[in-house]
Amino acid sequence: MSDTTQQFPGTVPVGRPGHPGHPADDTAGAEYAHYRIVPAKHHARTAGTVLAIALIGIVLNSVLGNPRWGWGVFAEWFFAGPVLEGLARTLVLTGLGALFGFALAVPLALARVSRSPLLAGCAWAFIWLFRSIPPIVLLLLLNNLGYLYETIWIGVPFTHIALLNQSTTDLISPFFAAALGLTLNHAAFSAEAIRGGILSVDHGQREAAAALGLPGTRQVRRIVLPQAMRAILPTAFNDVIGLAKGTSVVYILAMPDLFYTVQIIYHRNLEVIPLLMVATVWYLIILTVLSAIQVHIERFYARGATREQVVASPLAALFKHWRNARAAARLATHAQTSDAGTTTGWAQRRVGGKVGIHNVSKSFGALKVLDNISLAIPSGSVTVILGQSGSGKSTLLRSINHLERVDDGFIDIDGDLIGYRRDGRTLYELKEKDVLQRRRADVGMVFQSFNLFPHLSVLDNIVEAPLASGVPRGQAEAEARELLARVGLADKADAWPRQLSGGQQQRVAIARALALKPKVLLFDEPTSALDPELVNEVLDVIRQLARSGTTLIIVTHEIGFAREVADTIVFMDGGRIVETGSPASVLGDPAQARTREFLSKVL
Ligand code: ADP
Ligand code: MG
Repeated sequence: MSDTTQQFPGTVPVGRPGHPGHPADDTAGAEYAHYRIVPAKHHARTAGTVLAIALIGIVLNSVLGNPRWGWGVFAEWFFAGPVLEGLARTLVLTGLGALFGFALAVPLALARVSRSPLLAGCAWAFIWLFRSIPPIVLLLLLNNLGYLYETIWIGVPFTHIALLNQSTTDLISPFFAAALGLTLNHAAFSAEAIRGGILSVDHGQREAAAALGLPGTRQVRRIVLPQAMRAILPTAFNDVIGLAKGTSVVYILAMPDLFYTVQIIYHRNLEVIPLLMVATVWYLIILTVLSAIQVHIERFYARGATREQVVASPLAALFKHWRNARAAARLATHAQTSDAGTTTGWAQRRVGGKVGIHNVSKSFGALKVLDNISLAIPSGSVTVILGQSGSGKSTLLRSINHLERVDDGFIDIDGDLIGYRRDGRTLYELKEKDVLQRRRADVGMVFQSFNLFPHLSVLDNIVEAPLASGVPRGQAEAEARELLARVGLADKADAWPRQLSGGQQQRVAIARALALKPKVLLFDEPTSALDPELVNEVLDVIRQLARSGTTLIIVTHEIGFAREVADTIVFMDGGRIVETGSPASVLGDPAQARTREFLSKVL
């Protein structure tokens, strides 16, 4: 180090030109541009490269130089008719097994993680059975099904109406048995790969999707599966590669696949090694093609997974170009059809909802988290909930949009219950589908950990819920861009969430919650995950929202902010409301000792 400093006297303050006490810095810094750069030497790397070249040479020499490999015979048989026929059979069986197996595996995996014990149990049993039976045994069983059941009959039970009535041996040919057996086997393994992928998706993602009220199938299709794919793909391709090689078991049904064909040939001409090489090279080619496909699919599902801008393939670039053109066209039609006077602006949206919390209680096991809570929250007001960690604030907030089901009492928004239909003194619980729809119509929620969908662009995050509600894409995108401008992120529409700072992500999350024009907006510690200097950019957005019409309910530890924007402060402790009132009274002159104690800690 000291050597270097001697040679280059201007080394130290490059970044601080003109710093007092270093008068020579300026010139020294500028001269760097003309220095010659000598790359660092990597001796080990060079030695390794030489070794690798030597090894490749030795292998090539032994493979090409030894006449016993019989490359002449290899060339003769490589494209021979029977070999190609065997290859085709291998490919077709692999393709069918992979395609139908995967198609069957998706519902199996979803059933396996479903909340219905019977459904989960059936899926488990299927997977247990078909993973246990060796493929060769399964193929033989299917091929001999005709012995067990002479005919296969599909029709309406207890009648004579038959849709299908055929002899089993006619129906189940060896090829059918092979394809079916490989499909069942592959489905069992793939289902577990898919389940692994589903489990790897962060719980917050599903919660955010539920809070947005996305319908169940859309949650799976748009949010869960695309993210699960990243974890599914490597295992799934392993399974397909295993399947391609495993198809050789079909020889047991007297079906010559690639490997069996090769065996037949070398039994005849005794050229064992060259013919085994024919099979090996074909398997290598299959694997190479599959790997190439895997790379492309993986890249597709890696969208937004890292902060780096992934270099798009020409095909993807073309697709993006086409999408952008379509979006521009939609925007133009939307601008024509919507008359500027009638578009509901961001600030002058619908009237906020009035929230009534009536004697609500909730326990987790023996722990009473909400204890007979009652609260009336006027339309368009701003309510801030304060309290220690664990006092039940999040549970109360989540009960308002029915993410949490209360044990006793009820919560209504403008007289409507989110999770129930009221008839006299009876509450009928609503189906999940209807709950999601009500949530979509009435309540938005912003989480502490943002929970943006990382595989969707910022714009797509915002339009997801409006699209699910049937808003035309042109209108949804126009409104989303308007919302983005309002939260100061107009230029980030096409960015991936992970490319944004925490504060920017949270502002996108607010825009996403606003896109449905909710009557009530819930914030659960929206700034707690942010660095101190980013807190204000989010609070500024919430400040603008206050008194814009939407009812805001905010859980936060930002006391200064609470004093400034809140109409009402609610202080919770141990699942009860200890004190409510204006900021001046609760924060300035608390009546309860508990409140005073809490404030003395946080202020
Ligand atoms: P806060 O948001 O005020 O910090 P929460 O409402 O998150 O508090 O939690 C209140 C209490 O309920 C805590 O003691 C917490 O451990 C418990 N709790 C919350 N959710 C669950 C759950 N799903 N199962 C069991 N206990 C829970
Ligand atoms: Mg909480």
